[in-house]
Amino acid sequence: MLNQALVGLGKKRSTIRELFEYGNARAKAVGRENVFDFSIGNPNVPAPEAVRETLLRLIQNTDPAVLHGYTSAQGAEAVREQTAQSLNRRFGTTYRADSLYMTVGAAAAISICFRALACAPEDEFVVFAPYFPEYAVFIEQGAGAKCVIVPPRSQDFQIDFEALGRMLNPHTKAVVINSPSNPAGTAYSAETLERLSALLREKSDAFGHTIYLISDEPYREIVYDGLELPCPARFYPSTLMCYSYSKSLSLPGERIGYVAVPDVPETADLYAAVCGAGRILGYVNAPSLFQYVTAECAGQTADLSVYAENRNLLYEGLTGMGYRCVKPQGAFYLFPQTLEPDDRAFCERAKKYDLLLVPGSDFGAPGHMRISYCVQTDKIRRALPLFQKLADEYLC
Ligand code: PLP
Repeated sequence: MLNQALVGLGKKRSTIRELFEYGNARAKAVGRENVFDFSIGNPNVPAPEAVRETLLRLIQNTDPAVLHGYTSAQGAEAVREQTAQSLNRRFGTTYRADSLYMTVGAAAAISICFRALACAPEDEFVVFAPYFPEYAVFIEQGAGAKCVIVPPRSQDFQIDFEALGRMLNPHTKAVVINSPSNPAGTAYSAETLERLSALLREKSDAFGHTIYLISDEPYREIVYDGLELPCPARFYPSTLMCYSYSKSLSLPGERIGYVAVPDVPETADLYAAVCGAGRILGYVNAPSLFQYVTAECAGQTADLSVYAENRNLLYEGLTGMGYRCVKPQGAFYLFPQTLEPDDRAFCERAKKYDLLLVPGSDFGAPGHMRISYCVQTDKIRRALPLFQKLADEYLC
């Protein structure tokens, strides 16, 4: 007898994975250069030179038994110390080595947070549509709790505070934010974080327990137009900050990130709960080599400038054709409205031109499509006439 929920989960590939496989099949048929795969968020810029240099230096100068050996379950102490200090310098936070738990990417970081906080099946975690689809899987299947979705505010994809206020209740454990966001590229201003913090404080007082904020920040460094991104933990102390080097250092396959856990007097055992969640999930000892590499490269990024160029090209190109879209402030996704209400039908039709787009329904926002623009700029240039042909089918 197997757990049928897990069998179902294992058999059902996400739309993004389906498209990825479909793209590979089409590439065999028509050539990779003629397939416009905008489905997956796999960074296309190389990791910075500093990563290669650090790797080589570590390999040449470090005892292999240390370099490739076990670290503490929560990560090597020196790595956690260096990472905490780097965060403190940058954000004015007060993290210590024992605030950090190194993880296999942001996926593990957020899974650990859900698991650490969920105590009962009626516990609720609130996410804002459009949202990263794995949140629902991690919350429901992973932590056995409820995923509560605040409907999208389509005009700007910012927080709908009235709706959020109505949805917070005594079962709410945490609210999840993702700024800049996947899939809409929305970022939250200091004013928004101030307002969110005030609401969470008010509701925490009313319900007699802390509502945590889980801040999923893998796109923290990918922002446009000189935007200064405020640090949510500075506004709301009960914030668990989840980070990944997948996007900023272009290291998605190396699976490395962390959770930064706050020191809040009312939940002194929060770090222990995070460590406990890591233990039962088997997310212990994030890859040692890349713990050391990322600690040394803290604060650096890959050359992210191509994403700004891609955003501008795609945004200007598509809106010029009549597509309607909120301009992304960060990350590397565009989330325009589809030209017919049925986003799945629209994305299916786009395949005719070998444009691979992800339906907004997968992110809790039907009537939209996600275009992942972490691709070569030339690919976008060559795709624009195809988007025009697709638009002509509807708009002419
Ligand atoms: N959170 C968001 C919003 C993401 O977009 C992603 C990956 O695309 C993740 C988490 C998972 O990141 P990682 O690859 O570091 O596990």
